[in-house]
Amino acid sequence: MPKQENGQREDSLIQNDLSESFEEEVIAFLGDEEKLHLFDDLTKVNPVTTRTVLKCLQARYRVNLFYTNAGCSLVALNPFQPFSCLYSPELMREYHVALCPQDLKPHIFAVAEQTYRNVQKQMDPVNQSIIVSGESGAGKTWTSRCLMKFYASVAASVISPKGTKTVERIERRVLDSNPVMEAFGNACTLRNNNSSRFGKYIQLQLDRFHHLTGASIQTFLLEKTRVTYQAPNERNFHIFYQITKGASAEERLEWNLPEGAEYRWLPNSESDLDEDCFEVTRGAMFHLGISRATQSNIFKVLSGLLHLGNVQFSNPVDESQPCELEDKTKEFVKTTGDLLQIPIEELLESLRIRTITAGKQQQVFKKPCSRAECETRRDCLAKVIYARLFEWLVLVINENIYTDPSIWTSFIGLLDVYGFEAFPENNLEQLCINYANEKLQQHFVAHYLKAQQEEYVAEGLQWSFINYKDNQNCLDLIEGNPLSIFSLLNEECRLNRPSNTDLFQTRIEKALSSNQCLSRDKFSKKPNFIISHYAGKVCYHLAAMVEKNKDAVPPELVHVLQNSKDPLLQKLFPVTEKNQNNTKTQNRAAVVTVVSKFKSSLEHLMEILSRTTPHYIRCIKPNADCKAMTFRREEVLSQLQACGIVEAISISAAGFPVRIPFQSFTERYELLRKSWGSSKKRVWDKSNFHPAEKKGEIPVMDDDKAPRAAVLEILQDAVREQTPAQ
Ligand code: ADP
Ligand code: MG
Repeated sequence: MPKQENGQREDSLIQNDLSESFEEEVIAFLGDEEKLHLFDDLTKVNPVTTRTVLKCLQARYRVNLFYTNAGCSLVALNPFQPFSCLYSPELMREYHVALCPQDLKPHIFAVAEQTYRNVQKQMDPVNQSIIVSGESGAGKTWTSRCLMKFYASVAASVISPKGTKTVERIERRVLDSNPVMEAFGNACTLRNNNSSRFGKYIQLQLDRFHHLTGASIQTFLLEKTRVTYQAPNERNFHIFYQITKGASAEERLEWNLPEGAEYRWLPNSESDLDEDCFEVTRGAMFHLGISRATQSNIFKVLSGLLHLGNVQFSNPVDESQPCELEDKTKEFVKTTGDLLQIPIEELLESLRIRTITAGKQQQVFKKPCSRAECETRRDCLAKVIYARLFEWLVLVINENIYTDPSIWTSFIGLLDVYGFEAFPENNLEQLCINYANEKLQQHFVAHYLKAQQEEYVAEGLQWSFINYKDNQNCLDLIEGNPLSIFSLLNEECRLNRPSNTDLFQTRIEKALSSNQCLSRDKFSKKPNFIISHYAGKVCYHLAAMVEKNKDAVPPELVHVLQNSKDPLLQKLFPVTEKNQNNTKTQNRAAVVTVVSKFKSSLEHLMEILSRTTPHYIRCIKPNADCKAMTFRREEVLSQLQACGIVEAISISAAGFPVRIPFQSFTERYELLRKSWGSSKKRVWDKSNFHPAEKKGEIPVMDDDKAPRAAVLEILQDAVREQTPAQ
């Protein structure tokens, strides 16, 4: 049997020993270039431990080998510097035409090509997905973009039955969706200058000739709070900077964006790149069917939001009166009203006055809002406009890249979602993100670790189990029925009682105390709960969590937006019969909480993923400073642990890392046969193989375990001969 240090992890050892001896070993590794290339698959590392895996990755990183196979996954280290030759059209072609792309150096193109061939081979299931994961700044979006370019190029290399032009146009559009989505959905954060503030799943649709005929995009959980709040040294979404810097003189007049004007919601605007990007964004929008006039309308509304951000309120002298506006602010309200085409009085009333309907007669009262409430309303107005605009953009993009299901027969899905997050302060956003990561981890475990181990058991192979972390308990805690964090959060929203976070904390603890994944930071004065995720513990603060989950938009704001004369806002906030006549329906609709929406869109995604053949790319960020040629072991180590990659490699290494078709197996190892003893000869005899297995991929027997083990031994002997000792 293969060597398997069953679950023997050296995590604690490595924590204390990442220093000198480790460095020496890496250098020794580097001294032998041949060895470096041999270890292009981490399953060849022996023994498989966190330490040996880390050593191998670091050595390869030093000589610009950024990709390493890890059984069924590919580990991608972010080089943080451009290596154009790594993504050239020539290299794409090399992988595309290779007899066996997996025999070339590990690369995302090898994964892409293998995935494409699976579709061509009509593998079961024929639809494929590539799940790109990793923490912020690890290179997920970069990787997804390269994969899309690869498929666009592969599709372009064949002649479409409809003529090459059609194929070119559709691939161009699919690629053009990237700059548009990034302009509106990405922002500069402390961890990544181009951080995606939404999750994305793109389905590349292929026709029966395996040509790219279209695509569809699904997005998740846009971080809309960024429109009105940017953490210190972070920025708003790129598009705001692009319009303020890239607009022509004429456009500045039209959109009311005088040069040098300052906006509260536009911090840290010193950067040179935005101007160029604006042209790229506009060009891409145009290709995607968004006319120049509609674009101008979009940018005008965005400018309206920037002006709205400068509106500030002060407490009135008489509390029965609405909040006051400073002189300067009055000007901003006027510009906002002009740009959003909302009468100024109506706009001001919606921001400063609350309408209350009460009593049996449904009497209507008007009550001035406090200063804090006015500010919340102002922010809410901006967020709801931006979120709807983003949704609408995705819709328009989809309309322009989607093809009729009668035309496409299979798809390759690319998933680029935010990785696991643990900040000093975590709230609902992190809870949703980490929940998504738990779901993906469960998918990985179910589809790979579990399936593989179960297969070995079913085949009667001698096998010692690897202990992998099953995260069902944690998922039960977050989303389970009838009691979970999500259900309790929703209950709070439904009851609509004044939020008391201390009480809510007690309620959570009482209801879920039996779940071992739940605990609390007892030293913190703020109400909180801790979840033990598969990737580590995260403490979530309860303050504002219920409000965030409600995500309610005051009806006065919706009303004022529905009455706008602006054609774009009219599209984003249509006056439907329901919400015009029945405010009750509207209020009830508002109870569809953030977590419910997120959970159902994620379940839909998991359902799609479970019906595809998955491929995994694990992006790793070698250092938090985004520096080239800097590999910090502790940081890489925690990411390796967070994605359970070592367990996965152990399973691949311990079992059958390679599955060779029967024919290739006999042809390839024919030579070795001569040196085998008589007992092993029996194994070679084709008649020993079950007919089904001759067609299948694994040279295993039907009823007799001995020959199967012997085949295994032969293979391992051969591998051992080729693998140098470490
Ligand atoms: P994520 O989507 O995981 O947050 P990105 O894909 O945006 O991270 O990558 C962050 C940054 O890292 C990119 O803007 C780019 O500068 C750099 N980067 C990522 N992958 C590569 C690569 N393969 N080669 C060169 N630079 C890269
Ligand atoms: Mg990203």
